Amino acid sequence: MERRFHSRTAQLTRQLKNMVNKLLEVNGVTLRYAGEHGIVTATENVSFSVGEGERLVLLGPSGCGKSSLLKAIGGYLEPAEGEIRLRGRAVREPGPDRMMVFQEFDQLLPWKTVRGNVIFPLLASGRATGELAQRKAEQAISKVRLTAFADAYPHMLSGGMKQRVAIARGMAMEPDILLMDEPFAALDAMTRTAMQDELLQLWQDTKFTVIFVTHSIQEAIRVGSRILLLSPHPGRIKTEVDSDGHDHLQANGLRLSEDIHASLFASPAMAEET
Ligand code: ADP
Ligand code: MG
Repeated sequence: MERRFHSRTAQLTRQLKNMVNKLLEVNGVTLRYAGEHGIVTATENVSFSVGEGERLVLLGPSGCGKSSLLKAIGGYLEPAEGEIRLRGRAVREPGPDRMMVFQEFDQLLPWKTVRGNVIFPLLASGRATGELAQRKAEQAISKVRLTAFADAYPHMLSGGMKQRVAIARGMAMEPDILLMDEPFAALDAMTRTAMQDELLQLWQDTKFTVIFVTHSIQEAIRVGSRILLLSPHPGRIKTEVDSDGHDHLQANGLRLSEDIHASLFASPAMAEET
């Protein structure tokens, strides 16, 4: 009972902080594509906000518009309706304040070393130059425990290591938000769990803000402090779940996982995939 009370208090405190301190606001966003067979609506009237230091998970079955939403926040896709604001300013184009990490292992420049990959956006964006850029890159590489591989090329690395480089590259830029699109989905199960732990450890160290996309309920519970459940095609927000401090291996996470399953019951595709 007491624990419940504490977790409820923590939840309310967080919600209050969010109201005061909204970093990102997504207001009534509808995303459409002009496809071969007409217009495809990827998401419809999606609204949510993200506070500083939150780990927001977008959870939903394949095709529900998670990547599209992330692309829109990244400034790569213009909403057909609604708007997205970062620190009160409308998002209209990509910027160094929003860094993406993708699922694919080939998101690194193959002709550059680990260090070269991490330093490249720092220099290209003018975020840092010279020694400062070097230092920021070294720090980020060290945070993902790849210092020994700083001079290695991507083809010499495992999938998990490549994803750590992509995370380091994003974090070195010190963006307002790190946008992660199923970054661990292509990894084997054991590496995936280890990467989730590392991400949480990184978050403990620096308390960055992250929007993390996944179609795995377990991963959502583990990684997220808050989960938005999206309904399938077109994606709409079904419900929101507070998942801070939950782990799918513990009783509280198991219960939450059951609740989420129940909430997604109308979507068999989801149950099959997780
Ligand atoms: P998710 O990431 O949740 O799997 P997506 O955002 O990739 O979903 O896709 C949402 C919907 O938009 C799907 O129906 C998909 O087929 C469609 N879609 C995505 N990208 C494009 C595109 N470039 N052109 C046309 N339709 C697209
Ligand atoms: Mg996707």
